[in-house]
Amino acid sequence: MQKPIPGLLMESNESDLQRSLKSISWQHGNCLACIWFSSADPLNADLLDRARCLHPKLKPFELLVSGRDWCSLYQERSQKQIDNRQEMALKEAEKAAKS
Ligand code: SF4
Repeated sequence: MQKPIPGLLMESNESDLQRSLKSISWQHGNCLACIWFSSADPLNADLLDRARCLHPKLKPFELLVSGRDWCSLYQERSQKQIDNRQEMALKEAEKAAKS
């Protein structure tokens, strides 16, 4: 008898919901992770957020894209850039809470 392969066994037991959530969380190259995605709330940004695309070639069209969208002009936002944006947003939120 052949031994079961653990990964294959787990996949067959996944519900449809688990599979669909996994496909969302494992997306790469989408607008949410792109440097041109102008999220108004970097602390809570997620795939369902909508924001303007600020890419110089697309900006004139005033595109409103979601975090799940993508295009061939995608440019990866580094983790350091994400951390910096979130730190700035956090400082602004703290400043607003004090005033
Ligand atoms: S539409 Fe293209 S350039 Fe604009 S944010 Fe999305 S991936 Fe980036």
